[in-house]
Amino acid sequence: MPINAKAKLIEKKNLTSKILFFKFEMIDPEVINFSPGQYISIDIGTGARREYSIASSPLDDNKTFEIVVDTSPHGVGSQFLEKLQTGSEISFLGEIGSFILPEVLAPNLFFIGTGTGITPLKSMIESIVLNVEDDNLNVYVYYGTRTQEEVIYKELFEKYLSENRIDDYKIYISRDDNPTDGKTGYVGDFIDTFDKSVFPDSQFFICGNGNMIKTVEEKLLQAQVNSSQIFYEKYY
Ligand SMILES: Cc1cc2nc3c(=O)[nH]c(=O)nc-3n(C[C@H](O)[C@H](O)[C@H](O)COP(=O)(O)OP(=O)(O)OC[C@H]3O[C@@H](n4cnc5c(N)ncnc54)[C@H](O)[C@@H]3O)c2cc1C
Repeated sequence: MPINAKAKLIEKKNLTSKILFFKFEMIDPEVINFSPGQYISIDIGTGARREYSIASSPLDDNKTFEIVVDTSPHGVGSQFLEKLQTGSEISFLGEIGSFILPEVLAPNLFFIGTGTGITPLKSMIESIVLNVEDDNLNVYVYYGTRTQEEVIYKELFEKYLSENRIDDYKIYISRDDNPTDGKTGYVGDFIDTFDKSVFPDSQFFICGNGNMIKTVEEKLLQAQVNSSQIFYEKYY
């Protein structure tokens, strides 16, 4: 059952020209207890709500949480958050959603996201790779955006890759011909060249727009992945 909660904005910054990072401190209740992958539903006034995934990991601390918002749709949700100033309070329904890690994890975990859909995946990934007990799991991260400018969390995932906390990280850019980060293409392209013999012992977590999710899911099913191995959250 989601709870009615209040939190105060304590940090706001641009990650790109259109993508904003927000850090909130809980007011009521004083702590937030969420599972990585869950989201909150923010009251944006006049009875309307918009959903935003929690980007931080519960391993960080339970008094604060982070969200990341792509303001390019420029609807009421984007405008509400663009205008929100540090020190302001928000009301939200908290800890919603069943897009969470299953109790039993497969040895190979694939995280596939586009745009701000990387944020619940980041929370899930950090809860695994920063947890020493889960040291033996293989974690693969595939991330797609329309343009190179929209890429977020690149340094973080490159750091996790260089520290061998994750096993692969690739960026796919759909609308830039010669990106310096990653390659031109769609996030599901990784499936074409990946060693499919590991797929039976794998789970796939997908987040972003509905068309991408459908395309990736179809490709995985064609590669003999069972639908019970696929978990997803559709943003729009
Ligand atoms: C479970 C869930 C979690 C979500 N988490 C996040 C999140 O962490 N970060 C985030 O930025 N958004 C997230 N969203 C999307 C978010 O809730 C809003 O839909 C988005 O902010 C647009 O709201 P708006 O009022 O500005 O635009 P609206 O007027 O509601 O929408 C305008 C149009 O933009 C489309 N749209 C929505 N999001 C995007 C997008 N990113 N790119 C292009 N078109 C889009 C809508 O389908 C609609 O056609 C999530 C959605 C769901 C369902």
